[in-house]
Amino acid sequence: MSERFYTNSALSVGPMLLQGPEAHHLATVCRFRPQDRIVLFNGDGHEYKSEVVAVTRKQIELLILNCERPDRELGYRLEVAAPLPKGDRADFLIEKLTELGATDFVPLHSERSVVHPRETKLDRLQRTVIEASKQCGRNVLMRIHSLIEWNQYCRLSELPARRLVAHAEEEEERLPAFDKQDTCLAIGPEGGFSAEEIDQARGSGWLTISLGARTLRLETAAIAMAAWAGLPR
Ligand code: SAH
Repeated sequence: MSERFYTNSALSVGPMLLQGPEAHHLATVCRFRPQDRIVLFNGDGHEYKSEVVAVTRKQIELLILNCERPDRELGYRLEVAAPLPKGDRADFLIEKLTELGATDFVPLHSERSVVHPRETKLDRLQRTVIEASKQCGRNVLMRIHSLIEWNQYCRLSELPARRLVAHAEEEEERLPAFDKQDTCLAIGPEGGFSAEEIDQARGSGWLTISLGARTLRLETAAIAMAAWAGLPR
């Protein structure tokens, strides 16, 4: 795969001027030269094979040669809702969910959650989504939603019919046989969901799921469930 670059501007076949941090990166870090080939994407589902025409310190002239739509998305909604873990573990979680094809990430606030991200933190995580998308070839960005209370989220009427919440105290229910369908997955904070929060979810059509006898970190639980829902069979 040629090196991939993200831009938030509209793209179409023909000449294009790249400015800002990505242009600087291309010119001074990657040291691209005229005639080099790169791939641009902007999250619209397409990728744009391009040739470098001219390079200065501040901008790059490109010629977009073609526009393709490779099939790298799941084809169904895969929404993952979880409190953000602390520090670098939040970036790790977002990177892996992006790679696995999750379409949406919903940061949760719940009774026992400890990290309460500000919008700036969520913006930074959007950057992680872009970096992961560059690397894994996604041309549609995983959407990061605003922070929401679990009690409010779990009752939303527009959620997919298949709603699974990982619950360490669940003893019977396991992940069901997989079939491709819109799915939302929820994972609790390190202290777990409270009994009332679990009751509320069950009352709103969520199925509580056991992931086995060991207590997983919330990001391990989230990544394992996203792999269950996102990997091809
Ligand atoms: N002491 C907490 C554990 C929290 S682990 C408790 O008893 O609930 C953080 C989250 O990861 C949990 O809320 C749950 O969503 C998920 N999780 C971790 N291990 C799990 C397991 N074995 N089965 C189901 N969910 C698990």
